[in-house]
Amino acid sequence: MPPFWLGSIPAPMLSDIDRILIDRDAIADRIEQLAERLVLDLSAEADEGRLVVMPVMTGSLFFTADLVRLLPLTFRIQPTTVKSYPGKSTQSQGIVESALLPETIKGASVLVVDDILDSGRTLDHLQTSLLQAGAKDVRFCVLLRKDVRRAVEIDCDYVGFDIPEAFVVGYGLDFDGLYRNLPDIAVLRKHVVG
Ligand code: 5GP
Ligand code: MG
Repeated sequence: MPPFWLGSIPAPMLSDIDRILIDRDAIADRIEQLAERLVLDLSAEADEGRLVVMPVMTGSLFFTADLVRLLPLTFRIQPTTVKSYPGKSTQSQGIVESALLPETIKGASVLVVDDILDSGRTLDHLQTSLLQAGAKDVRFCVLLRKDVRRAVEIDCDYVGFDIPEAFVVGYGLDFDGLYRNLPDIAVLRKHVVG
């Protein structure tokens, strides 16, 4: 029997994929569980009007969109950009670009939402910047956490899935800007990544 996802992925993409690591149904189920916990944990901050959800663009685009619609709380959404993987690189090269944080961060309880925790540099950088900008507290929610030796240890409050060391794409994650629209999370074939 062909894999269940065959037929729902464009042919050129399909030939680049080694395997599906996490399918769309598993992602949706896990996001529901994360949302339940977040509602319990963040209600007080939301009620006090100081909750800010901060998606790290662009990888967490779909994750954030699916997650926040399951949070019946009052909060602002303030996206940010931190880039550490320029172009066709698959290795984190340190922070290469970061957006300025707005005034609204002062006194806020910030929930940073990112696609994947790898070296830890992105979240470490954000935590420092957010606290410098006057955030009251900072929590992290990541869809994926890679099993690697981290350059910086990060205490992550909410994790969707722990995954092995591999370069993954789909559900917002890209390689050179491509594959973000794949509905599942997949490992690319070696010849694509180079
Ligand atoms: P870190 O700063 O923790 O090394 O890396 C975090 C960022 O690197 C993520 O937000 C993501 O944008 C990118 N990244 C890390 N691993 C992967 C991966 O396996 N696939 C993709 N597409 N991006 C990754
Ligand atoms: Mg990122």
